[in-house]
Amino acid sequence: MLPVVGHQQTSLIDFPGRIATVFFFAGCDLRCPYCHNASLLEVKKEDIIPREKILAEIEKRSKFIDGVSFSGGETTLYEELIGLMKEIRERFGLDIKIDSNGLRPEFIEKTVPYLSHIAIDIKTSPDMYSKLGAKLDKEEVRTRLLATKEILEKAQGLRVEYRTTMYPPLVESYERIYKMMEFIPENAEYYLQRFVNTSVLSPEAKNVTSYTIEQLERMALEIRRNTRRDKIFARTYA
Ligand code: SF4
Repeated sequence: MLPVVGHQQTSLIDFPGRIATVFFFAGCDLRCPYCHNASLLEVKKEDIIPREKILAEIEKRSKFIDGVSFSGGETTLYEELIGLMKEIRERFGLDIKIDSNGLRPEFIEKTVPYLSHIAIDIKTSPDMYSKLGAKLDKEEVRTRLLATKEILEKAQGLRVEYRTTMYPPLVESYERIYKMMEFIPENAEYYLQRFVNTSVLSPEAKNVTSYTIEQLERMALEIRRNTRRDKIFARTYA
């Protein structure tokens, strides 16, 4: 059963350029210290919204929304999502977005035919993923993120967004960011997102000071200049 455990009826910001209804998956293969969705990390059977209810909620709103967004948790852990996406496209013709950490390229490849937008989080460089609880070694992280990049570079008609939560202990230098950019397609938008130290998973993260908005904007500018990529931005909401 798909562990969808949360529903935001309408969002104007989750799916850029679309009015969307958003569903949240429980379960994740990482444990980022700054995670704001700690309540979603473990699946609680009693919270699961059945598939029929998900479809009924979409149907109810289908005349007023443009898209359906799936967030988490981690969306790519659940094979049944592919069938649900297919049904949403066929029955309602709505656009679909997913958020993912990009570590399951074979799954992401299967979602591409149904997607309009995908947002991939690059957390830090592969050698630091062990600090996020990843059960993969750094070479495997690198291989998987490169495979995801290759799939998304080839995808036609799909808006591809990459982003990094700028948590200073994991993204402490330009050198680190340039290593991470190995995994970001040239054509993708890349957002440096502000870390906010409230409602976070790890007690240590509560004591970490965020980069300021001005620092993030300066970093985005510096990276644009040094990489000659123009779609790199600071994102300071949330
Ligand atoms: S931030 Fe995302 S990837 Fe990290 S633990 Fe939370 S849900 Fe999982």
